[in-house]
Amino acid sequence: MRPQVLFPLFTDVASLKGVGANYEKLIKKLCGDKVVDLLWHLPYSMIDRTYQPKIAFAQDGKIASIKVKVKEHIEPQSKKQPYKVLVEDSSGEMALIFFKVYKDSIKKNLPIGEMRLISGKVESFNGLKQMTHPDYIVKLEEATKVIGFEPVYPLTAGVSNKMLHKLIYQALQRVQDYPEWLEANFKAQKGLMNFREALIAAHFPKKLQDTEALSPSHIRLAYDELLANQLALALVRQKVKKQAGRVLKGDGNLRQKILSLLAFELTDAQKRVLTEIYADMEAPFRMLRLLQGDVGSGKTIVALLSMLNAVECGAQAAIMAPTEILAKQHLETMQELCSKIGIRCELLTGRVKGKARQKILDDLKEGKINILIGTHALFVDNVEFQDLAFVVVDEQHRFGVQQRLSLSNKGKQTDILVMTATPIPRTLVLTAYGDMEYSKIDEVPKGRKPVETSVLPLSKLNGVVEALARKLEHGCRAYWVCPLVEESEKIDLAAAEERFESLKKIFGDKVGLVHGKMKEAEKDAVMERFKKGEISLLVATTVIEVGVNVPEATIMIIEHAERFGLAQLHQLRGRIKRGFQASNCILMYGYPLSETSHARLNIMKETEDGFLIAEKDLELRGGGEILGNRQSGFSEFKIADLSVHKDLLYTANKDAKMIVAQDAALASPRGQALKILLYLFEQDDAVRTYLAG
Ligand code: ADP
Ligand code: MG
Repeated sequence: MRPQVLFPLFTDVASLKGVGANYEKLIKKLCGDKVVDLLWHLPYSMIDRTYQPKIAFAQDGKIASIKVKVKEHIEPQSKKQPYKVLVEDSSGEMALIFFKVYKDSIKKNLPIGEMRLISGKVESFNGLKQMTHPDYIVKLEEATKVIGFEPVYPLTAGVSNKMLHKLIYQALQRVQDYPEWLEANFKAQKGLMNFREALIAAHFPKKLQDTEALSPSHIRLAYDELLANQLALALVRQKVKKQAGRVLKGDGNLRQKILSLLAFELTDAQKRVLTEIYADMEAPFRMLRLLQGDVGSGKTIVALLSMLNAVECGAQAAIMAPTEILAKQHLETMQELCSKIGIRCELLTGRVKGKARQKILDDLKEGKINILIGTHALFVDNVEFQDLAFVVVDEQHRFGVQQRLSLSNKGKQTDILVMTATPIPRTLVLTAYGDMEYSKIDEVPKGRKPVETSVLPLSKLNGVVEALARKLEHGCRAYWVCPLVEESEKIDLAAAEERFESLKKIFGDKVGLVHGKMKEAEKDAVMERFKKGEISLLVATTVIEVGVNVPEATIMIIEHAERFGLAQLHQLRGRIKRGFQASNCILMYGYPLSETSHARLNIMKETEDGFLIAEKDLELRGGGEILGNRQSGFSEFKIADLSVHKDLLYTANKDAKMIVAQDAALASPRGQALKILLYLFEQDDAVRTYLAG
């Protein structure tokens, strides 16, 4: 149960004063649904409104708050002219300039002869001081509300800074002085503020530095967030680790046969990770290991060999893929090999229905199926194994920790191998998995041709289309990936459809379209036609990101590449890196392109090393964005920014390990306080499920 002291924070934002129905929607989109979400919405800058000069002495370019008397209204003579209001004080006069505003409201706010406090940026024009659209025009009684330090928040259309700050102020009043969850010595040594103190300092900055990621208030809050993350993971881990595992040590017979069927030798990297995996399987503890390897590094065969190790012991194994397409691809690869050695693989997805499904379920329960390949449909309750000993979770960043463990609950002491094609820098491994052991396939099979990558502005689109036409005539196949627009699939789709139509005018029915809104069967049909070569140009939204395998495709054009995460671009590019032919990737960008975006795209040109790309992306953009989308499942921190708070993460990791070693039930006074921390940062699962009892 969530501690009672936190109840006021975990209510709907609608419970705050001044939040109507429309406004509620905006605030929820901007910050989140709950009052607590407002606390984490920190100002990124600050405006100093304490400068109060007389008009004549006000410096150009500075934000000034000036007490003035309204002198005269000058209405515009034409539509282009602004509305002017002359104001004065004892030192001189100045003009307030308004474009496109209602006369009536100006007249009402600035009645001639009355005193007002105005605040905004001072400029000079033709020797006269002026202020265009003052930020504030208030009666003198209200001056103290304006004069001071004003935090500047990230906003969205329809939400003003002033309104938001008022709400956050209310949210802050619901925060109490919770028992300290940091160790006194540690806190003193690092000079950390109290939690509540830090929140207030962050929302009421007194100088610009107070809004920066390395300010004392931000450091305290970031540390708390990271500690909650690391502690939750450490609790999961100790729970898994505490469970006994079974010893899986096959005789090697099946694996030997498979190896002799392969047309290639395993790379050294594949051999090394297999040794690591076998050692885990053999150990009498529950295994939980992460296998990382770039697209094309040969993870599938590693997964298959590991599964066969379990099968050799008379047990069953399962592999879970994030999409139907990918599951089917695994089936094809594995069935081809396994059928030759008398091992039965079957596919189970949401689309396998009726009798066929029942048959698989029956056979599975009776142990007639050795390897089950599936999607999340594997989690359905009525799927029963006879003896599931080993589970591979492929491309796991799409699954939650909860899902991962619910699958493993299907077997006795199931060993788990989590496999991801997204190269993840060590820092992120730590935030997403804690101290999970991991293996890296850091070598691709020899003989692969590099992808030639070019970076071009969209203004060169016509030239690209011409070159593409020549390639297609020579029988090449190409992907055309359409831009990601905001987070809305609808808009993505419109862009893709438009591009599809315009390319169809040039290439006719050689062009196909595939997008996320299509039914699974429609998608597969289009993909199938592309595989067969009936379509040679495939226009797509990012649905092709995962899993598509068309070795003949050697060209990829990505529109508005600057809108994608680097890791995502890397994944996309991996789609054309499958063959031994030369291939081309063209990253097209729109203007204006920031310096950082330019640097990011150039990294893509310079290297194909996914790990290097991921590290660079982390450096350039910070952790939250590294995977390019929110569905990534990687912890996206609200306050912590891994490009600057990396050290805090490592400290939090150590702290968490110590806590779990000393008090895994969080029963001590500090443990109790830490529970509040876990709930504050919504690590409820960890508290409920994994607290050692
Ligand atoms: P991924 O890591 O992206 O899942 P795959 O397992 O699909 O990579 O492997 C990509 C391709 O490389 C497959 O066609 C596979 O048969 C081949 N492959 C795997 N290992 C080797 C190897 N050691 N030498 C040559 N080709 C290999
Ligand atoms: Mg794969």
